[in-house]
Amino acid sequence: MAIQDRIQQINRRISDAALHCGRGSGSVQLLAVSKTKPASMVQQAYNSGQRHFGENYLQDALEKIEALPLDGIVWHFIGAIQSNKTRTIAENFDWVHGVDRLKIARRLGEQRAADRGPINICIQVNSSGEASKSGVSFSELPQLADKIAALPGVRLRGLMTLPAPSDDFAQQRVPFRQLREALEQLNQNGLKLDTLSMGMSGDMEAAITEGATIVRIGTDIFGARS
Ligand SMILES: *Cc1c(COP(=O)(O)O)cnc(C)c1O
Repeated sequence: MAIQDRIQQINRRISDAALHCGRGSGSVQLLAVSKTKPASMVQQAYNSGQRHFGENYLQDALEKIEALPLDGIVWHFIGAIQSNKTRTIAENFDWVHGVDRLKIARRLGEQRAADRGPINICIQVNSSGEASKSGVSFSELPQLADKIAALPGVRLRGLMTLPAPSDDFAQQRVPFRQLREALEQLNQNGLKLDTLSMGMSGDMEAAITEGATIVRIGTDIFGARS
């Protein structure tokens, strides 16, 4: 299937899932995860109206960002962040989804050029408690969120998670519900967060049901990665 048709199909799935649980069809933003895929595919997605793209690998991403200076395109960094890469990330991306350390957030803010406005940050939460995964625990979250929210040069937008895969819809919903509840709690405590970055090709309906505002979709747009 052509990328244009896949984008259309995904947007349909998003609006169906949103309407099904009583949310507006425009309440969920599609982030097209183009990691490892060529610039030509990003261009095709852009030509179909897609504007937000997610990348994990910095070198791979920079080549595409340089090759595609397209009007209105927005790049999101969704991979693991090494502290010696924060400058490059701050200079080339408008969103960073995988922040789980104060030091990284502080550097992103310091290294962000003032004329580009604050960089948007989501804190990654390790919702399934797997030792191998990055992200803070739910218990560490409130303190980190307060500190990041107070930093100059960054705008804390919300939370992101990447749970252990499951084929069961009810099971998929559990970590997404926990993430939503954590965000609601932070907002009750005075923060103003508006973003839940959760849901991928295999579990986006469950994430939307639990309140996702950004779904990160790779495989179902660009095909399997090698
Ligand atoms: C690769 C990746 C995705 C996209 O996953 P698909 O299953 O291909 O849709 C989403 N989020 C993150 C953080 C990823 O690394």
